[in-house]
Amino acid sequence: MQSGKINVQTENIFPIIKKFLYSESEIFLRELISNAVDATQKLMALSRSGKYTDEIGDTRIKVLLDKEKGTLTVRDHGIGMTADEVDKYINQIAFSSAEEFIKKVKKEDASNLIGHFGLGFYSSFMVADKVEIFTKTYKKGGQTKPVHWECDGTPNYSIEEIEDKERGTDVVLHISEDHQEYLEEQRIKEILDKYCKFLPIEIEFGTEKVQEETGEKDENGEPKTQEVEKPRVINNTEPAWRKSPGELTEEDYKNFYRELYPSTFEEPLFHIHLNVDYPFNLTGILYFPKVKQNLEVQRNKIQLYSNQVFVTDSVEGVVPDFLTLLHGVLDSPDIPLNVSRTFLQSDANVKKISKHITKKVADKLEELFKKDRQDFEKKWDDIKIFIEYGMISETDFYERAEKFALLKNSEGKFFTFEEYKHHIKENQTDKDDNLVYLYTTDTEAQHSYITEARDRGYDVLVFDTPIDSHFVNTLEQKFEKSSFARVDADAIDNLIKKEDERASKLSEEEEKKLKEIFEKFVDTDKFTVQLENMDEKAMPLSITQPEFMRRMKEMQQTGGMPMMGNMPDNYNMVVNKNHDLMGKILEAEDEEHQKRIVNQLKDLAMLSQNLLKGEALTNFIKRSVDIIE
Ligand code: ADP
Repeated sequence: MQSGKINVQTENIFPIIKKFLYSESEIFLRELISNAVDATQKLMALSRSGKYTDEIGDTRIKVLLDKEKGTLTVRDHGIGMTADEVDKYINQIAFSSAEEFIKKVKKEDASNLIGHFGLGFYSSFMVADKVEIFTKTYKKGGQTKPVHWECDGTPNYSIEEIEDKERGTDVVLHISEDHQEYLEEQRIKEILDKYCKFLPIEIEFGTEKVQEETGEKDENGEPKTQEVEKPRVINNTEPAWRKSPGELTEEDYKNFYRELYPSTFEEPLFHIHLNVDYPFNLTGILYFPKVKQNLEVQRNKIQLYSNQVFVTDSVEGVVPDFLTLLHGVLDSPDIPLNVSRTFLQSDANVKKISKHITKKVADKLEELFKKDRQDFEKKWDDIKIFIEYGMISETDFYERAEKFALLKNSEGKFFTFEEYKHHIKENQTDKDDNLVYLYTTDTEAQHSYITEARDRGYDVLVFDTPIDSHFVNTLEQKFEKSSFARVDADAIDNLIKKEDERASKLSEEEEKKLKEIFEKFVDTDKFTVQLENMDEKAMPLSITQPEFMRRMKEMQQTGGMPMMGNMPDNYNMVVNKNHDLMGKILEAEDEEHQKRIVNQLKDLAMLSQNLLKGEALTNFIKRSVDIIE
């Protein structure tokens, strides 16, 4: 037996490894299994190229728990190592790269690192007091006897030749007192499910009960089954994203979605299969889920893999923000995995990947739109959030989405931007040649305003989600000579001003008097009285909410503008001076009579804006009954 001292540059590196990334100590298992997978794949490659001619035999990697001995073993039948290789790879290279990794992490901030790849083999000392390696190389002749290496978490190690060992490597961890959780079957299963679910080599851990045919038939001629206990393989070595789209059916994609999210019952709307090998390597499947009310629960469902090893499920930086709402997997060995998020965001490869994904998503949406517009329209309400969010936040995406993004009107009809422009051009261009897009945020609450607009032959769009107010802003910036106004933003004739000025029925003096009367009975702190030269058949009195102020307030509420403080609501009381009732008010014999009419009109106006509540509503009801009597 020979012993030695690892060449330590950083003093006390073992205590640092022990403490470091404590909360994520579970990743040691991913590191060890990744090594086992590498060793196995290397052997398979040697065999394929004819450099290894013996039987490969069983290639399954086994994870073994021995509670009594307090050990956890990762066993592979890969290439193994000679004594020299153990010295070179474990004592020297692995150690110094672990050392380097730790130095880097200490500088950065571990929690900010994306994948924590890099600590490698030595991560086992996070959870073990002592680690042993039993290994036998695939090589023959010379010094190729199996060896045993051992290290107890100090720079001292020992290495010796042993007699018998099959090809491959056993890494045996003597789990430390404060990490006993790693001797629990359930805990190990959980870690394997998280990191190893799609590794390319079978990983066996424990056993499971399965129904197996006995070969006999029962009285109905059906094959008889019996329950048997079998070794449990925890991974699917050929996950859907690694296959070519041509091999997969719609059902396969849905099944894979269920495999990824076993506790989700909803089916995805559609998927995008990514498959790039130049200028970077990326595979993956992204799913468009049905959108939930609470967007946050939907985020961080994309799983990032590196050659089928799970890395993380928070992909900010790798995909544009609007796509973090999608589900699915991305797999790329080209994403640097042990760098900080800020670094990741500025990495040229990552930028390319992000751009590529955005383009692919846009292509897919365009394809769906072109192939079956009706179906696309049916899905619109579920996908519009991604598309609108993307159009607001990514110029590239806006330019692509322009072709297939839809606008929905109050009758439930869909239009592309271009179609809609033609649809309203004739009727909704104002005297300054400005195209006015009318919209509602609530078809129920703004019903009377919508009706008023439609009576004029105008079309009204529906923008009823929280993101829509931002979307309206974006469209307004992009569309030339166009503006957007909610149907209740002003008297309809003011929203789309036409050339012909209507003659007012009232004299200047009468107008002044009328305004004074209204201001007397209306709460002028809340409402600004505004006399308008409207169609005599339009409502005598209505309440409007100026577009600009309302939008500012909405943006503030959805978090767009934190600096604005709490803005009060701002309403106008619009008096139609041409309505017959105005004459009645002016001619009324006493103030009491005027007040009655104004109050009734005011309450009606408030009702149609959903503003009449409490005592005011009770009074209105009583007054209305009196009028009937
Ligand atoms: P990395 O895997 O990033 O190279 P590690 O510290 O995990 O770093 O491992 C160092 C080296 O030790 C590996 O590159 C490999 O040569 C060798 N090694 C580790 N585990 C095994 C194994 N199970 N079988 C064969 N070689 C191994």
